[in-house]
Amino acid sequence: MAYRRKKAVFKACTKCKALVSLEASKCPICGNESFTENWSGMIIVVDPEKSKLAKSLGITKPGKYAIRLGG
Ligand SMILES: [Zn+2]
Repeated sequence: MAYRRKKAVFKACTKCKALVSLEASKCPICGNESFTENWSGMIIVVDPEKSKLAKSLGITKPGKYAIRLGG
């Protein structure tokens, strides 16, 4: 079965890796205005205080985040 990469529906903030809609002009988490569509892996953080992965990624606010940036 062939796997075709779908077009990204989100773009990732280059600073905090938050995933935002493609229309967003500013990151709601950190206010950064620079984004990339080259990201992989998604983590949904509900409670950053209790998530070890969130801590290791430096995530402090609930939301959707990319695990890695870059193609
Ligand atoms: Zn950000």
